[in-house]
Amino acid sequence: MQNHPHGQEYQTLLNNIPGGVQQCLNDEAFTLVEVNQGFLDLFGYSRQEIMERFADRYIEMLHPADRPQLLAEAAQQLGCGEKATFQYRVRCKDGSYKWVMDNAQLIYNENGEERIFCVLTDITEQRNIREEQRLSLELHQIIMDQATDILFVWDFAGDTMSYSSNWEKKFGYLPTYHGLSRPDTVYQNIHPDDIPALREAMTAAKNGSAFSTVEARVQNKKGRYLWCRFRATDQYDEFGSPLKAVGVITDIDEEKRKLDDLKKRAELDALTGLYNRAETEARIRRHLAGQPNGLCALFVIDIDNFKAINDGLGHLLGDAVLTELGAEMKKLTRQSDVVGRIGGDEFAIFLKDFPTVAVAKKKAEGLLEMFRSLFRREKRPVEVTCSIGIAIHPQDGADFPSLYHSADLALYQAKSRGRNQYAFFGPQSESPVGVADHTALGADIDSDQRGLGAAGELTDYVFQTLYSSCDLDQAIGLILEIVGKRFDVSRAYIFENSEDGLHTSNTYEWCGEGVAPEKENLQHCSLVDPLDYREFFKESPIFYCRNIKSLHPALTEFFGAQKICSTLQSAMYYGAVLSGFIGFDECTGVRMWTKEEVGTLSVISQMLATFLQRKRIGDHDRQLADRLSTILDAQDAYIYAIGRNSYELLYINRKVRLLDPKAETGMTCYGAFFGRSAPCETCPLTGGAGEIYNPQYGVWTKVKAAPMKWGDIDAYLLSCFDVTEYKKAPGCRGEKTV
Ligand code: GH3
Ligand code: MG
Repeated sequence: MQNHPHGQEYQTLLNNIPGGVQQCLNDEAFTLVEVNQGFLDLFGYSRQEIMERFADRYIEMLHPADRPQLLAEAAQQLGCGEKATFQYRVRCKDGSYKWVMDNAQLIYNENGEERIFCVLTDITEQRNIREEQRLSLELHQIIMDQATDILFVWDFAGDTMSYSSNWEKKFGYLPTYHGLSRPDTVYQNIHPDDIPALREAMTAAKNGSAFSTVEARVQNKKGRYLWCRFRATDQYDEFGSPLKAVGVITDIDEEKRKLDDLKKRAELDALTGLYNRAETEARIRRHLAGQPNGLCALFVIDIDNFKAINDGLGHLLGDAVLTELGAEMKKLTRQSDVVGRIGGDEFAIFLKDFPTVAVAKKKAEGLLEMFRSLFRREKRPVEVTCSIGIAIHPQDGADFPSLYHSADLALYQAKSRGRNQYAFFGPQSESPVGVADHTALGADIDSDQRGLGAAGELTDYVFQTLYSSCDLDQAIGLILEIVGKRFDVSRAYIFENSEDGLHTSNTYEWCGEGVAPEKENLQHCSLVDPLDYREFFKESPIFYCRNIKSLHPALTEFFGAQKICSTLQSAMYYGAVLSGFIGFDECTGVRMWTKEEVGTLSVISQMLATFLQRKRIGDHDRQLADRLSTILDAQDAYIYAIGRNSYELLYINRKVRLLDPKAETGMTCYGAFFGRSAPCETCPLTGGAGEIYNPQYGVWTKVKAAPMKWGDIDAYLLSCFDVTEYKKAPGCRGEKTV
């Protein structure tokens, strides 16, 4: 451009324009006329190189993909005006491409020739950023669409919250947020217990905490709370003020519940659902470590003579007593108190932060009264009392071991004073070392299921009845009545399962006076639908239920429909197969089933299973025999079976009976049909040809003999086809047997 006719000024100006400037012809190649230094710097070429490599054809410097569009746009834009703007990529000397913005203007030189004057700005960086943004937006959208998590953006300035559509998918309704000024709406779907934590996390996020996380339960459309984890990251403006919180809500319900379940199982006593020994101790220690302000009390409670309850009424009943007492103790205490089972029949209650000892005294009296009265309303009242040792914190012990030791000594005091009372720790409780060793802390909890006890005379009677009776149905009816009356139940019954094990039917039932029979309603009931009855006997052959209300709601409904309050059932097994069950229902109120009742029922069910199965097999055989005899009777042949050597008739079919009504099983065939004293010579069994004439009846038969088993006896089945007609035909010679 050194010799450019426009002179030095023009050139200086051109070279100082930021970016590149070029002038080209308005032709197909945008042939370059002149370029400035900025243009050369922009793409890295010298003027010479442009000439040599591209023959000054500007179009060839462009990315091939952008050429057609530039040509089209130039024609279109410059066709209707003098100014135009294009964006395209230009290949640099190093092989890379630069995005340029080309502000073009159509000009005419002094000769009136058309030129395009272009100012090029490097926009590579912006284009890249935009592309990145586009990609990241796309990515964002993909994540939004694919993730099961819910994304949210909380804009602090406008106090608006936006959620991804997953909220609706997960919870079944559209989320609403009317701003922090409406806390009633902010937390309306959050579990009340989780609101404080969520509020704290939101405040932290709003105040600029870079990262906040919280776990809270969110209610779904059906009202069920789902555990969710909320995680938010703050975004700030250029001055560092928080602008937004962006985050995700993840459904952690299943994982959380599994964890809770595991945690609970580790903390709770399996029988009573109270805290176990370790957890009781840990909770008390934790509370004491926090240096409580008020008084605290440790009650150590031991059931009086519990061994006698176990021995007299059975271990199962003992378990039921422990469970019921545990539930009642919970009811008598506050949510924050600690109630645990710390030994076989020993419980601990830790009362927190109360003002005066009188409160503990009152609580102890309430407990004693609860123990005394709990089972008084039973159908067969059970006497249960307890002794309580009480130690007060801080005076009777500063930490758990000393407090427990004091309570234990006090318990010993209460026991030795005659039981059924409470005792506070005091100087009188002090006793020689080792005296308190009888208590249960540290002692194993009995979980052994002892034998269910002898069934006694009653079961002897049941066995005799079953064994000697020729009518099993009648015998079973009698047994249910006797047992039902003896145990004073409302109903005693038997269910037998179908052979495929899918249905069960009430086959025998005895009802006490005034109790409605259910047998008719309980035929061919599904064993699996709506409840899988087999589950009842999964862990034990005895299904023991003191109160049907304590069962799963579906079961409560199922038993409730039959007006049952308590039930005791025993599975009947034949081999390993559940063949049915025998049960007692109590419809007048709840009752605990005694050891004797459980034992008897379990023995009877074993006996009945055997007898019923024998009957079933008998029925089965009888049915088979009936079917077979119908088939044989329908045959147009004289058919009979005889013993192999005795020739004694074992079976005769209808056709034989009709021919010879005097013939009977037990007679010999030759005696019965031929009046002989020895087998016939023509009989195939004695080597004869098998065509036999019977002079008594004037009948010719063709005889076929097949060896077979008749029970244990070796026998023959003889089938005699009447061929008399054929023998009578002219030309035929008869062969006489006798
Ligand atoms: P005391 O008045 O002196 O307390 O007499 P006790 O008969 O209650 O004697 P103790 O407290 O020593 O007996 C506890 C009994 O609790 C002994 C044990 O067989 C029984 N036991 C322990 N664990 C269980 C259980 O899980 N279920 C049942 N049914 N009984 C249990
Ligand atoms: Mg005891």
